[in-house]
Amino acid sequence: MTFKELGIAAPILKALEAQGYENPTPIQEQAIPILLKGKDLLGVAQTGTGKTAAFGIPILHHIYQNNSGLGKRKIKALVVTPTRELAIQIGDSFTAYGKFTGIKNTVIFGGVKQGKQTDELRKGVEILVATPGRLLDLMNQGFVSLRDLEFVVLDEADQMLDMGFIHDVKKIIAKLPPKRQSLFFSATMPKTIVELSQKILGDFEQVTIKPQQATAEKVEQGIYFVAKGDKVKLLVHLIEEKQTKAVLVFSRTKHGANKIVKLLDKAEINAAAIHGNKSQTARQNALNDFKDGKLTVLVATDIAARGIDIDELSLVVNYDLPNVPETYVHRIGRTGRADASGVALSFCDGEERPYLKDIQKLIKQTIPVITDHPYVDDGSRKNEPDADERPPRQNNRPKNQNNRNPRSKNRNRNPRN
Ligand code: AMP
Repeated sequence: MTFKELGIAAPILKALEAQGYENPTPIQEQAIPILLKGKDLLGVAQTGTGKTAAFGIPILHHIYQNNSGLGKRKIKALVVTPTRELAIQIGDSFTAYGKFTGIKNTVIFGGVKQGKQTDELRKGVEILVATPGRLLDLMNQGFVSLRDLEFVVLDEADQMLDMGFIHDVKKIIAKLPPKRQSLFFSATMPKTIVELSQKILGDFEQVTIKPQQATAEKVEQGIYFVAKGDKVKLLVHLIEEKQTKAVLVFSRTKHGANKIVKLLDKAEINAAAIHGNKSQTARQNALNDFKDGKLTVLVATDIAARGIDIDELSLVVNYDLPNVPETYVHRIGRTGRADASGVALSFCDGEERPYLKDIQKLIKQTIPVITDHPYVDDGSRKNEPDADERPPRQNNRPKNQNNRNPRSKNRNRNPRN
């Protein structure tokens, strides 16, 4: 199947070619025909599957085909997404895919002054990408009218709920015109999300792209048993050993993320953190520096990182194992995107072993245990305090020399149960 066979308008095909997209991904192949037929869509899929193009292409196609080019631009499509980073990324995708269509989009999100955003809205756009709070705010101030809306996309619905946006989302749904095409995307489908989807979807078709596929097929995974206090040293060791240029490190907490950056700085590894307590500018700068190769390590909390699309990200490190197993799938989906393959390594201390069990149950795999490293936790240090504040030295001798086999450069894969 090619994009041309899906019946996409020529200027969009040209843009996809410029992006280097040769064939549609499974979600695109399934979702695009449904959307071109004018039906609503429930997409159960995580980011990394190509879902932005799955909704972006048919929306652009429809607006392009029906565009008279006359009069002021009116908002025809609205995409609501939980985080600023995701919003910016989706806006960039619309710009790229719509490059030759003359269709304009803009992105609105909180945490920054509204002036620039309202200027863009005044000039007129056909596509608006927004986070829920700022959208409601600008609607209430009269800067956004949804009167002419033809498409609405609720993206990452489960994340939106996790972040406490449920009331905002319901208020937005209440203001949508009744005649519209609705798209609802969520990586997981707990009961609350099913209920929310019923509020917005009419006659819909469902496309499910199982997260397990992304995990099993593309991402090489490994687990390191390590005491909490040794995690930073192990991280430094891995970065040096693997000579990795771009590592995305996940931390469960904002405080933890800051602490990791501080310790990496001391080891002279360029790192920055992105999380909810950082200003929007700081987050965007860190992301740009990481994309430009100026930073080796980006440390992120789940909410800040979800959906972030970084090309050629070859290594993801779960510094902390997530207590929600689905989060593991989202995290490792940051590597091995679309056509690339990637590696996801996880650190597991004594207290986190139950989380590992849940994760393995969800992904229906036993993650190989890597024992060829200097900080193997034999379980005796379970109750040690959090990572020590001393900087890990560059040339510190491995403590557990016995665990190292100097001849073995490759990982020793221990087929544990
Ligand atoms: P998404 O799930 O929308 O965040 O997309 C994940 C990544 O896949 C992004 O880097 C897209 O640019 C890329 N991508 C999306 N569709 C395709 C395609 N058909 N071929 C190659 N790459 C794609």
